[in-house]
Amino acid sequence: MADPRTVVLPCGVAVPALGQGTWGMGEDAGRRVAEVSALRSGLDLGMTFVDTAEMYGDGAAEEVVAEAVCGRRDEVFLVSKVLPSHADAGGVAEACRGSLRRLRTDRIDLYLLHWRGAVPLEETVEAFESLVREGAIRSWGVSNLDVDDLADLPPGAGPQTDQVLYNLSRRGPEYSLLPRCRELSIPVMAYSPVEQGRLLGHAALRDVAAAHGATPAQIALAWVLRHEDVIAIPKASSRAHVEENRAALEVDLTAEDLATLDRAFPPPGSKRPLEML
Ligand code: NDP
Repeated sequence: MADPRTVVLPCGVAVPALGQGTWGMGEDAGRRVAEVSALRSGLDLGMTFVDTAEMYGDGAAEEVVAEAVCGRRDEVFLVSKVLPSHADAGGVAEACRGSLRRLRTDRIDLYLLHWRGAVPLEETVEAFESLVREGAIRSWGVSNLDVDDLADLPPGAGPQTDQVLYNLSRRGPEYSLLPRCRELSIPVMAYSPVEQGRLLGHAALRDVAAAHGATPAQIALAWVLRHEDVIAIPKASSRAHVEENRAALEVDLTAEDLATLDRAFPPPGSKRPLEML
């Protein structure tokens, strides 16, 4: 297999375009060994970009990640998120300390505001900047921010990414959010890239998959990854799913495939509010 594709963040760091999500991990002790092993097999395949959050399993997903990256922390680009309810000056620092403890590491590579809440963005950004100065986080970004929200970031603020819901059945961001992020040179991180599995039985996706000798999940991921500045973070809790997802990087969609998918999943003709899961 060729080296995994990368996306360069504004800070200059190149990260794998295909990472791993962790929402839902750590919630069932009986699945923990499989989850750790799935994440580790992803690391072996170059999917070293791992997305988690203090919210997932109330911290338990971060503990699963800690186990998966144990002994290989330096290979991994670790992303975690602070809840909006913790996004005030003191709350961010405390939430970050909690995440660092559960992740058993001394730094988070990219720390995101999970979604916008009541705390002014300026206060959260100041708290992020102070964590960067202390070395607790290497960089910061946002999640679930639409075009108007991005405009409300304080002048000079430089998020590394906007992590948003983007997949074949959620094409709203294509209308103005993706273009705006491109203008700002902010790569978008697409969450729920296979729509939590709900996309996978769709006839058009199955047809395109059959033509490539691929699976619907691989086509859905290749479609998200057709943009050079989009990172996809599918969550998979079995080695088989991880391997299948990794092979999506080898799928090249043709113009005809894209037209078939456009007919089944039309692009937005006007602005739609950003959806969230
Ligand atoms: P995904 O679209 O990644 O779907 C995950 C589901 O798809 C799981 O049930 C998984 O099953 C299944 N799946 C994965 N790969 C395959 C495959 N090859 N074939 C068949 N089924 C497959 O949804 P998520 O919502 O988990 O999104 C991905 C990540 O994005 C999250 O885990 C989280 O890290 C992040 N996220 C961020 C949000 C935010 O607000 N910022 C919101 C939602 C997600 P199995 O587990 O059995 O392998």
